[in-house]
Amino acid sequence: MGRRLLFVPLPFQGHINPMFHLASLLHSRGFAITIFHTHFNSPDPDNYPKSYRFIPVPDNLSDTVRSTKDGVAHIHALNKSCQASFRDILGELLSSEEESVACVIFDAHWYALQAVAKKLGVATMVLRTGNATSFNLFMAFPLLLEKGYLPIQESQLDAFVSELPPLRVKDLPRLMITTSLESYAELLARGVEQVRTSSGLILNTFDSIESSELDQIKRDLSIPIYPIGPLHKLSTQAQTQSSLLAPDQSCMAWLDSQAPKSVIYVSFGSLAFMDPNELVEIAWGLANSGLPFLWVVRPNLVHGSDRIELPKWFEEETHGRGRVVPWAPQPEVLSHPAVGGFWTHCGWNSTLEAICEGVPMLCRPFFGDQTGNARYVSHVWKVGIVLEGKVERGRIERAIKTLIVEREGDEMRERMADLKAKAAQCIMAGGSSYLAVDNLADSILALQT
Ligand code: UDP
Repeated sequence: MGRRLLFVPLPFQGHINPMFHLASLLHSRGFAITIFHTHFNSPDPDNYPKSYRFIPVPDNLSDTVRSTKDGVAHIHALNKSCQASFRDILGELLSSEEESVACVIFDAHWYALQAVAKKLGVATMVLRTGNATSFNLFMAFPLLLEKGYLPIQESQLDAFVSELPPLRVKDLPRLMITTSLESYAELLARGVEQVRTSSGLILNTFDSIESSELDQIKRDLSIPIYPIGPLHKLSTQAQTQSSLLAPDQSCMAWLDSQAPKSVIYVSFGSLAFMDPNELVEIAWGLANSGLPFLWVVRPNLVHGSDRIELPKWFEEETHGRGRVVPWAPQPEVLSHPAVGGFWTHCGWNSTLEAICEGVPMLCRPFFGDQTGNARYVSHVWKVGIVLEGKVERGRIERAIKTLIVEREGDEMRERMADLKAKAAQCIMAGGSSYLAVDNLADSILALQT
């Protein structure tokens, strides 16, 4: 019986982390692991168990594509350029493998590879690294276009999207300026198509936070779904193992010296970028709040730069009160008792990591599913506030104080404690995600019989 699984992560941090956690989880259930990876953002095999096999799939991407800020165009280009090499490499592997392959597990955005795997006769499953809500949105996208919710009109921002409650028009995905709506719609449609033709959809979410959204997916799909999140809590792999940038561990010692729940942790994930003025407004907001902070300033956080120097006054104003790092060991930071709030872009991994550690959020979504996630954080779970409008120092200062020192922040923290408990329950023996993992492992083994 084949117990080897092939994993094909999409080479971006927010997709790599959950896919490697899934690999680690299934490895602990006795499956052998092979990772197909691109040259772009390739993993370091030394960070993983020796038994993992790593097989490069040449991506042949031009430097222009590699450095584009248009993530959607980048994903289309990857699909196009990897399809032929994927076919050759997978074909060779399937014909030579002594131990048979049980299944290939793709990221939902590797749409062009699914058909290839099917043709070669191997079973496939799809991991959607976002939540159930965003997958419902993928499925509803053609309808949203047809009904005129999209493209988003300024005059309609507060209108409700009756097909996807509680989202409003302004919670629908915002696109980067260089991305066309057609190109985005195609990405989503092809992702949904590949899910429908696979043997199962795996989701990094859990039943008690998105039960009606999961029911909706079950109604719309005729394949099994496996809500097995939070994956980073179920896997035994440390998240730093799949980090593309080296996390600055020294911030943990600094956190040790701070009072409980006093620090605002600020990070906008791996892809979001801003203009230089926004960076300066954030710096002023943090300085004027008078509160301790840990701020992740990635080398490419500001549009058009690959090295950022903060203004000199910032160091003087905040001396001893804050830390700026290029990359943090985020789940560890969020679990530190000194952290009282998380200013986030609301990427799904970051949102889930905050929920698991019970840290309330200040949300500033940038693009894609982040706006919808922010709506759930602020409106459904009521564990965060959204920073709307222009990024401006006064607003930032007030929002940070609300989250860290005011009663409103404490109330959100209390509700967060409930969510944290639910996240912990679902992965315990008999919990919904625990059972879904059992179900997934059994289903994979049954695929070949
Ligand atoms: N992350 C990290 N250190 C940082 C910032 C982010 O380890 O300084 C990790 C974070 O824990 C999460 C991932 O990078 O797992 C970002 O994924 P997310 O979905 O939140 O956002 P994306 O980067 O895809 O926009």
